[in-house]
Amino acid sequence: MRKKIVAGNWKMNLTKNEGLLLVEGVLNGVGDTDTKVILGVPFPFISDAVSGVDGSAISVAAQNCHQEEKGAFTGEVSVEMLKSFGAEYCIVGHSERRQYFGETDELINQKIQRLLASGIIPIYCCGESLEERESERHFKVMEEQIQSALQGFQKDELKKIVIAYEPVWAIGTGVTATPEQAQEMHKFIREKLAQVLVDEAEEVSILYGGSVKPNNAKELFSQKDIDGGLIGGASLSAPDFLEIIHSF
Ligand code: PEP
Repeated sequence: MRKKIVAGNWKMNLTKNEGLLLVEGVLNGVGDTDTKVILGVPFPFISDAVSGVDGSAISVAAQNCHQEEKGAFTGEVSVEMLKSFGAEYCIVGHSERRQYFGETDELINQKIQRLLASGIIPIYCCGESLEERESERHFKVMEEQIQSALQGFQKDELKKIVIAYEPVWAIGTGVTATPEQAQEMHKFIREKLAQVLVDEAEEVSILYGGSVKPNNAKELFSQKDIDGGLIGGASLSAPDFLEIIHSF
């Protein structure tokens, strides 16, 4: 059985008190669920978020990390630091990092290597742009993103990675991929993983991200290859995020 996961991505939002209230709201409302809940918080929140969810099954994710172990990289945060503060997951390759910070599949591959070596689970984001979908290159682009960012990993490493398919045209736009579009791509991604993992590709959780809201989560999550969501805007409201968590 694959893990069902709902991960929030706060991006660069919320002040300390707002963040603390949100953690408390999610913790108080999550109840008994077999869905893995993850809060993807900015670096300064990691410590408080980890303390806030202590004793619960909720985990905390960072939204980025540096690929090097340590050293003269002013302003950057290492994987070992994240680990020492209690982050269990780390989002990598988000389209905003690719677009605004020039992150490439090669760099993302290095970050994933560093994370796996430290025992932090990468949530690897991938997805095509609107132009790539409209010119019908979306499968090709996804194949490249899966192959180049995930190349060189042994089977037992690869199957630990959580994949988040996030079509760029759906992130923060209010335009959601239809359940059929999302399912089609998730199935394609699983087939690509199966080229390396064979049957074990069935164990990899593939999340959908892109304007998931309480009113569309249920239908998306009911698709065969959609194992949950990476949620941006709606993860900033405890009631909305909780409704999405409870959509399975
Ligand atoms: C995201 O931040 O990865 C995301 C999918 O955002 P939104 O849910 O707001 O589209």
